[in-house]
Amino acid sequence: MPDCRASALKAQLKKTREEKLKEAGHDRSDVYEPTFFPHDAINIVLCWNNVNSILACQCNRCVRVAAFAPRQMGSKERAQYASFVTKDALRLFALLVYVELSALISAFEPKGDRILDDEDLNKESLKLYLANNNSTELDNDLEAFLNHRHKFFPVLFHSNWYEKWDSRKVLPFINTRFVGDGSYGTVYSFEIYPGYGNLSCPGLVGIHISRVTRSLLN
Ligand SMILES: [Zn+2]
Repeated sequence: MPDCRASALKAQLKKTREEKLKEAGHDRSDVYEPTFFPHDAINIVLCWNNVNSILACQCNRCVRVAAFAPRQMGSKERAQYASFVTKDALRLFALLVYVELSALISAFEPKGDRILDDEDLNKESLKLYLANNNSTELDNDLEAFLNHRHKFFPVLFHSNWYEKWDSRKVLPFINTRFVGDGSYGTVYSFEIYPGYGNLSCPGLVGIHISRVTRSLLN
């Protein structure tokens, strides 16, 4: 049996991610190493032809995983999902490639990328998308899906204020640097990767992230 076609793409995804971070000017971070996969790296690697090729993979792993999709279909029928992936589910598919579950894509057809933003998503709710939701065979893989999902759906900064903050979310920051320390807390500077931030404020010259000393909040 051949190797999974997704393996080479996963390696390419990681490599392109590094290249894109460098291209965006990322040099080093003192405190918050970026873990996200930028949208442009995903777009380059998961072009229609590559998606189509992964969907048609007939390796042992893909055949076994495909058995958990609610609609049973061969590799040819799976390949028909390439348009859905490139239009509505590219980040989700990148995640599925990353955790080696790409043959499950048809299970998420009603949701696409939106599933990545579902705050209440857990292993049990994820299993409801599958054909056999009592099986524990994919438990570790679904765990990996949940653990890595925010890397493919980092926070978007389109407003200057956030009322709700989910600490599990991944920040699209590069070059996070230590600025200063004081009784108030610790201040860091950072840059937002292009496309993830649209902050505009008259006279804004920079943005700081502050870790405020807890005693000040009490
Ligand atoms: Zn495969």
